[in-house]
Amino acid sequence: MPTATTYMTLIDFQERQREEKTPFKSFEEWLKAVPNEYLECRDLGHIWQGDGWQGDNIEKLPHGACMLLMDCDRCGLGRDRYIGPFGEIDGSLNRYHYDRAPGYLYQDERGEGYALGKKDRMKIRAELRRRSQEQAALAARAARKR
Ligand SMILES: [Zn+2]
Repeated sequence: MPTATTYMTLIDFQERQREEKTPFKSFEEWLKAVPNEYLECRDLGHIWQGDGWQGDNIEKLPHGACMLLMDCDRCGLGRDRYIGPFGEIDGSLNRYHYDRAPGYLYQDERGEGYALGKKDRMKIRAELRRRSQEQAALAARAARKR
């Protein structure tokens, strides 16, 4: 019977990643350690909230284009969303600020990451389910102690 969760809170994990940039030996090790918020965003997508606009005349962008500055409400990742002069979007011109969500991207010991595949995403969902069951077991155990 577990007595504590096997993973860290978002705040603790991000703090530790900023301080020592802990490398992971494998995707499975990363999966066990990362906070729920990262796994939920990897599975469901981010919850983007606009924080403001970076106006006209941005270097290398067409006249009239803007960047909508956004943050994910769940994991803290930052994204500047390209909005063209006529309101058109182009994902290839978006900018992502992974430094605001340290450890969000899986990187192995050599500092190399890779795009997650279908099987990795399945493992993420299975891990979220495992954590949910672990959380329920911990809550039941705490309730019996009272
Ligand atoms: Zn997110």
